[in-house]
Amino acid sequence: MNLLKKDFIFQDVDELKGVGEQFSKYLKKKKIQKIKDILLNLPYSETDRTKLYKLNELEIGKIQSIKVLVKKINFPRLRNLPNKISCEDETGKIDIIYFNSREGYLRKLYPINGWLIISGKINYFNKKYQITNPDYVTTLENKDFVIQNIPKYNLTKGINEKKYRLISDQVIKNIPQIEDWLDKDYIKKNKLLGWNESIKRLHNSKESKDNKSESFRRIVFDEICANFLTLSENRRRIKKDKKEKKYTKLFSNKIIENLPFILTKSQKHVLNEIDFDLKSKKRMFRILQGDVGSGKTIVSLLAISNIIESNYQCALMGPTEILANQHYELAKKIYEDTDFKIAFLSGKTDIKKRKEILENLKNGSIDIIIGTHALFQKKIEFKNLGLAIIDEQHKFGVKQRSDLADKGGDNCDVLLMSATPIPRTMMMSLYGDMDVSKITEKPSNRKKILTLSKPEKKIKELYPYIKKLIKEQNQIFWVCPLIEESSFLDYSSVKNKYDIINDKFPNDVGLIHGALDKNEKEIVLKKFLKREVSILVSTTVIEVGIDFPNASLIVIENANKFGLAQLHQLRGRVGRGNKQGSCILLFKDGLSKNAIKRIKILKESDDGFFIAEEDLRLRGFGDLIGYQQSGVKNFRFADPVIHEDLFKLAEKYIKNIQVNINQKKYSFLLKLFDRAEIINVEKI
Ligand code: ADP
Ligand code: MG
Repeated sequence: MNLLKKDFIFQDVDELKGVGEQFSKYLKKKKIQKIKDILLNLPYSETDRTKLYKLNELEIGKIQSIKVLVKKINFPRLRNLPNKISCEDETGKIDIIYFNSREGYLRKLYPINGWLIISGKINYFNKKYQITNPDYVTTLENKDFVIQNIPKYNLTKGINEKKYRLISDQVIKNIPQIEDWLDKDYIKKNKLLGWNESIKRLHNSKESKDNKSESFRRIVFDEICANFLTLSENRRRIKKDKKEKKYTKLFSNKIIENLPFILTKSQKHVLNEIDFDLKSKKRMFRILQGDVGSGKTIVSLLAISNIIESNYQCALMGPTEILANQHYELAKKIYEDTDFKIAFLSGKTDIKKRKEILENLKNGSIDIIIGTHALFQKKIEFKNLGLAIIDEQHKFGVKQRSDLADKGGDNCDVLLMSATPIPRTMMMSLYGDMDVSKITEKPSNRKKILTLSKPEKKIKELYPYIKKLIKEQNQIFWVCPLIEESSFLDYSSVKNKYDIINDKFPNDVGLIHGALDKNEKEIVLKKFLKREVSILVSTTVIEVGIDFPNASLIVIENANKFGLAQLHQLRGRVGRGNKQGSCILLFKDGLSKNAIKRIKILKESDDGFFIAEEDLRLRGFGDLIGYQQSGVKNFRFADPVIHEDLFKLAEKYIKNIQVNINQKKYSFLLKLFDRAEIINVEKI
């Protein structure tokens, strides 16, 4: 392959010399698919092999390089005995040991009376120095390949350093001079580095380990820009002209009048924002954010009613059967006095019924369809879909929402709803392609959930309290982080806990976790909803969104294992009816200062947005399960806490440049960070 061609870095790694089928498989396991992934796989440390040591200078346990004369090779005829090569220099002797190596190979590698450079970890055995399976063995002419600081990469089984260097050196040393997509002045002014320079430096572990180094910051800036560019391009494509829709508040005003409550100011505000989009000539592409229980569903149903008169159809999708069904039941109630035709569709709808629904969607006799993912299957055709609303869409990435918008067609407005509070720094990188509406207050009649913390060893004190709650017709969630006991994690598991609690409250306990299939989960949840059991032992799978009106207590074990935002979401499962909800956080002893701060925040605040900010600030971004699940962690290098300034800089930069996404330099950037396929940019 011509390594000087600029686009060689977007070729498959298989194209490199020395990468066979097996090797390529291992590389791909490590997410090294294309040659550019070798550039992005940064070293985490390095091994100093720069000095050649005399044999009387060796230190046991250290990795050292030596120059020695081969004296004798010994191949024992007994199985399981190692092969031994005796070497020496003018100051001493050393044995090089191999297990499972072939004689022919070793004879070639170790010519008797030849001088060699050997590098590896020094051992001592039978009063003699040894190196077992050395990392490098080479002739004097080739010593430069070994005698240097050699970067250490995170590799996987099947790839050792030597093998990896064969290809990484090829690539890193041959990176073509690439036209930088940032101009020189901008780079200088913002104390960044040129792209080529930064990549080269990053393969020196000192720079790649320091996430504040100039070179690291350059790659972070690029990654953020690639992300923002993808989003702004997605937005440009979606916000197109649509056919005008007839728009009326006839129905919604009536519905609002008949509600058993008054809308909060915040609900009214977001309704206005949505209405503005529905009336606008450009398509709506909006996300409605609101904390658990802030009342998003009613907003969505009102928005639907505002355009239904214009003969457009609306679709409302929930993430699961149960949640979609709750929406359906609510919709029937809310639209009671209208003649809207509403239908429900899920994977469980029987074939006959499904056929009928599909026909009626096609001929337009259904106005509103509510359901699960089944709504967006290929076979389903709408006569005239005018508004698609997706509830609890936190698992929707950019690609999925752009597909969804495509599927709806040019006249379809799109509204996503989410209860996952996103810290401010992350909003742009997650939803930069959408307009954002936020419900910032909760209904005023909502009682604040009482949050308590307790050391785990006092768990027994809870049982009488729970007994009392059950007697008063309450239900309880009991959350543990693990499904099964683990030998290396000291966390509670649901299976274990289920046994313990079922012992105390026989036949009154359900068990649910992620390893159950969808059907099994629904059976358990329905049982709990119907109050056939009072306690539900669960991992974090108990979803956001479902109304469990009788659940008034949630107990969360190993609470410090969860992110604050996630704890907040979990406690939002209770106290949704008119009962006082409480949340008990159980901890092991010896909480860190930070953990104590975190509990305090949860006790004092019930504002999901505030909690998300604090969570990010206190715990950083690294390993929060809550964030990983919500897809927030879609950066490889950038960290919203450490690189906050670069997020701001990139936002400004992207807003101020004229981007033609098909320009080579931008498609290069998008391809480098695997963003190109999201918006189908092919040209390079
Ligand atoms: P979420 O935003 O979590 O989806 P829901 O839409 O499920 O919240 O609303 C939670 C509960 O609050 C529902 O029972 C709903 O009827 C009720 N609700 C919604 N808006 C109001 C309001 N303005 N005043 C009182 N209760 C409300
Ligand atoms: Mg909801």
